[in-house]
Amino acid sequence: MAKFVYFFGEGKAEGTAKMRDILGGKGANLAEMTNLGIPVPPGFTISTEVCRIYYKTKGNYPPELKDQVEEALKRVEGVMGARFGDPSNPLLVSVRSGAPISMPGMMDTILNLGLNDETVEGLAARTNDPRFAYDCYRRFVAMYGDVVFGLKPQAKDERDPFEVILEEKKEERGVRYDHELSAEDLKEVVQAYKEEIKKRLGIEFPQDPKEQLWGAIGAVFRSWNNPRAIAYRQINEIPDDLGTAVNVQSMVFGNMGPDSGTGVVFTRNPATGENYLYGEYLMNAQGEDVVAGIRTPQPINRRQKGSSGLPSLEEEMPELYEELERYCKTLERHFRDMQDVEFTIQQRRLWILQTRTGKRTGLAAMRIAVDMVEEGLIDKEEALMRVEPDQLNQLLRPVFDQGEKKTALEEGRVLAKGLPAGPGAATGKVVFFASDAEEWAARGEEVLLVRIETSPEDIRGMNAAQGILTARGGMTSHAALVARQMGKVCVVGCEALEIDYKGRRLRVNGHVVKEGDYLSIDGTTGEVILGKIRTRPSEIIQVLIERTLRPEDSQIFQIYDRLMKWADEVRRLGVRTNADRPDQAAIALAFGAEGIGLCRTEHMFFEGDRIDAMREMIVAEDRPSREQALEKLQPMQKEDFKGIFKVMGELPVTIRTLDPPLHEFLPHTDKEIEELAGKMGISPEELKAKVRALEEANPMLGHRGCRLGIVYPEITAMQARAIFEAACEVKKEEGVEVHPEVMIPLVGNVKELEDQRAVVEEVAQEVFDRYGVEVDYKVGTMIEVPRGALTADEVARQAEFFSFGTNDLTQTTFGISRDDAGKFLRAYLEKGIWDFDPFVRLDRKGVGQLMEIAVKKGKTTRPGLKTGICGEHGGEPSSVEFCHQIGLDYVSCSPFRIPIARLAAAQAAIREKRG
Ligand code: PEP
Ligand code: MG
Repeated sequence: MAKFVYFFGEGKAEGTAKMRDILGGKGANLAEMTNLGIPVPPGFTISTEVCRIYYKTKGNYPPELKDQVEEALKRVEGVMGARFGDPSNPLLVSVRSGAPISMPGMMDTILNLGLNDETVEGLAARTNDPRFAYDCYRRFVAMYGDVVFGLKPQAKDERDPFEVILEEKKEERGVRYDHELSAEDLKEVVQAYKEEIKKRLGIEFPQDPKEQLWGAIGAVFRSWNNPRAIAYRQINEIPDDLGTAVNVQSMVFGNMGPDSGTGVVFTRNPATGENYLYGEYLMNAQGEDVVAGIRTPQPINRRQKGSSGLPSLEEEMPELYEELERYCKTLERHFRDMQDVEFTIQQRRLWILQTRTGKRTGLAAMRIAVDMVEEGLIDKEEALMRVEPDQLNQLLRPVFDQGEKKTALEEGRVLAKGLPAGPGAATGKVVFFASDAEEWAARGEEVLLVRIETSPEDIRGMNAAQGILTARGGMTSHAALVARQMGKVCVVGCEALEIDYKGRRLRVNGHVVKEGDYLSIDGTTGEVILGKIRTRPSEIIQVLIERTLRPEDSQIFQIYDRLMKWADEVRRLGVRTNADRPDQAAIALAFGAEGIGLCRTEHMFFEGDRIDAMREMIVAEDRPSREQALEKLQPMQKEDFKGIFKVMGELPVTIRTLDPPLHEFLPHTDKEIEELAGKMGISPEELKAKVRALEEANPMLGHRGCRLGIVYPEITAMQARAIFEAACEVKKEEGVEVHPEVMIPLVGNVKELEDQRAVVEEVAQEVFDRYGVEVDYKVGTMIEVPRGALTADEVARQAEFFSFGTNDLTQTTFGISRDDAGKFLRAYLEKGIWDFDPFVRLDRKGVGQLMEIAVKKGKTTRPGLKTGICGEHGGEPSSVEFCHQIGLDYVSCSPFRIPIARLAAAQAAIREKRG
């Protein structure tokens, strides 16, 4: 018989950590923890298979499920010595989701299930605390109403009906906090909740615990497809068909009086990676109070206390703190990774509710990985796999300019301090709603999303904002978790903020900040600062690029450097850079570039008065006048190339001949035309006519790429002369063996390349003869159109290297203009037609297939063919992996993505080795 339900409890579990696909992350870990002897409340997991069946059959369960749940429930009752629905000693359970890939806070949870009008009395009697019992009951009814009956507010100005009732009750009683309400008050609240449900839906709140249980199970399965879970999966690229498991687990109570509590700890600091227990807890509370950020929690230990003044668990309950620390060490050693552990203390007894791999910042990921190698927990390759390449972005992110920040401090503009949940510095215009953050960011504004607290509904807005600031919540609140994962700058729990959503403003220590005003946050210190503050580069940039910080003075740099060196030891792919100027090339070298994979020469024509010479060349009527204009450009190009050769030394430098359509260089407004015509000594009408003549209906597929050099070979000749003269001069002057690689763009027919190659070779010979030296050079092509890829065997006869221009190859393969894709991209992603933007991540199936064909065919006629990629995909981890898999020699990307490419290349090699 198919098994759908897996029991865990009393030191034995039917599942293990390896069964994530079936049990979900949470279920697998609960099983594993139980097997490790960690005190986990007993329960059972309903497999993800049931979720898939539920969706396939439009809401049905497999027939075996009912009996399997009944049986597991009996076992839980046995372990806890309590019975489901027993009025004198009721078993209460939690029902939670748990997907194979963690989706924090995105799906639904129900606590205290099993309470009804009778069992609540039993609980009251057993705990001798009717207030507690009714508090549990009212929480349960509200959660059930929200989750199972769907009464949760949908619109941004709607309020939760149960919250409204509770607020009214508090007002009526003249109290501020929930815990100031009496048992009798709460009993009335429960009654009011039930009436609200009846009023809205015309149904009675179910009293039968089994009915409650099945209602909750169905709701958790349905929450897999709620809009925020779908959005989260989209942003994080989690497949929709994984499904969630459901965990049903015996409740333990953190709100059973002053010697109870609940909390969350990370086994290491998730922001910095430092190795000490890091977390927070709340006395006399339930788990969701910590995560929801309704009260600001207490620090877990002395080290973390800082200036909060609140007592820590280490001080309040030293033995329990020690016990917790011991379990955390066990869990960390067992899982060989930093854990995020939820615990509850019920009347001085510690229960571990769940453990999972802790989310962390890029810095923490690197530090933990490097430290764990030193501690002997993992090897270097595992350490490399532990850091997401994109996380390195965070390490390169700016910090505030210290001078400006000091001024802000002196001027009293540091308004408040919250918890530093996501490091980095962010400045932006204040918005109070996630939807506004999205809208404002879409029109190019830098925004800071300010909320009392965030909820999973807000993730799109959080994604769009520069930074996130909340008034409530701790380091494990929703805002903190999500921001960390996104790598956003984030400050949470800044209690001094009084946010007025209606008035779209906030008040903080006597200042009023309105929507649209600038505010800055420091996610490393937690400071909230009025106005705009200039940001400064990260420590790594300061060491590598600005050289204002010595490597030995920056721990962050040292960690980064070690990891990068390990990456270089294992990667096979070379990493080059796309750089058009000496300063860019220098940055790229500092980041570890091993050459230039793409130098776009057209960028050089826009500087200073060069554009005039360029324009003269374009409007020239015949070849001699064109050559005359090119004569003016040639020395400037030569100087550019010399600058680059000097920086790059003996490393290869791939220089592409002119690529964009000529009309891009011409003026367009009447005023510009008039001015230029004056300078050139022609009439504005003449110039206008030329502009018109060059205009194209579809410039992306028009007279660009090698087509320019074919029609005007003198352009290619001028560029080649500049390249080879520069190379010869640098060789002569500096004694450096330079390695230029001349690259012809947009080739689809071998004859195009043959034509251009001849021009380049003739110039090379002429220059070498004139200088009396030779340099080693190559001529190759970009593969950017399908025909170039499909006829690569022919093309390779004329090309010593191929570089995949995947920006254009994506454009030409999909038949979608690079410039216009944005218009329908979102619809395509939302409809699931595309799983990702193919201009960001390489489409392996289509574009990738063409690349594979090109590499294979190219090597049939030229076995030593060098291959690389220089489209934007060259710095995107998944695309880098693909390039490794098809055996390219190198990837080339923008300077700031080089560390990412190095790590991604290492991971690709490790993954291949692991099989
Ligand atoms: C490409 O098409 O991928 C490429 C690198 O060239 P460009 O972006 O300049 O067209
Ligand atoms: Mg291109």
